[in-house]
Amino acid sequence: MSAKVWLVGAGPGDPELLTLKAVRALNEADVVLIDDLVNEAVLEHCPQARIIAVGKRGGCRSTPQAFIHRLMLRYARQGKCVVRLKGGDPCIFGRGGEEAQWLRGHGVDVELVNGITAGLAGATQCDISLTLRGVARGVTLVTAHTQDDSELNWHALAQSGTTLVIYMGVAKLGDIRRQLLAGGLAADTPVAMIENASLPQQRECRSDLTAMQEDAHEFQLKSPAILVIGAVAACATDEMQAAALWKRGVGTQEIEQSA
Ligand code: SAH
Repeated sequence: MSAKVWLVGAGPGDPELLTLKAVRALNEADVVLIDDLVNEAVLEHCPQARIIAVGKRGGCRSTPQAFIHRLMLRYARQGKCVVRLKGGDPCIFGRGGEEAQWLRGHGVDVELVNGITAGLAGATQCDISLTLRGVARGVTLVTAHTQDDSELNWHALAQSGTTLVIYMGVAKLGDIRRQLLAGGLAADTPVAMIENASLPQQRECRSDLTAMQEDAHEFQLKSPAILVIGAVAACATDEMQAAALWKRGVGTQEIEQSA
């Protein structure tokens, strides 16, 4: 039997957002290596499997990537069905591509299984439509955190006219605000900050570009959270209406008052 590893997205947290394919892979698994953003409730689909936690959260003690690679390889070569389970989607800020390439380079078959990424789930859970006809014709997913401290082209992002969904941004709100303002994004651009998307403890904080750092502080926003920046994040009873109003030049405050 040839060695094989499934790189599976566990979705943002709500176990009902798992794909059927993820459930099937978990069902067949002998060994499951999980990241710490994975909701353990999804493990009910693999009661027979050996579970190994290999989390690597920013700032905490983490399992070295090389060790994770070797573990997957060892179990796969023993003929075990190995599932590498990652929060959200394995290929959105999840090193899925990197791990797949490494495994294939070592003669292991890899099957990638999509998960619902936190940015998409978070927005939907808060009734935010990331693209919206006449308001936002695209969406850009970016991470505020890089290993090599390389800078994003914030100016291009500010000018893109797309909704921005920012991952790993909680500790960088000041930088994000400064860069986007410098890039020409309007100071009152609506912002939604969504913590623990799709989990029972989900919280959301609506703000705008100018106030988001102070508002997040007051709200005690914590990781994991995503930021949605753009007209579609306008706060109102009728989100679509609010987004369209903001786009036409009506201020966020006025929209909130009319809601
Ligand atoms: N592969 C994952 C992203 C991993 S990077 C995915 O596709 O979702 C980790 C970042 O994802 C966190 O810092 C946070 O910005 C975001 N994130 C993950 N789970 C989240 C959740 N339930 N709610 C809000 N943000 C989340």
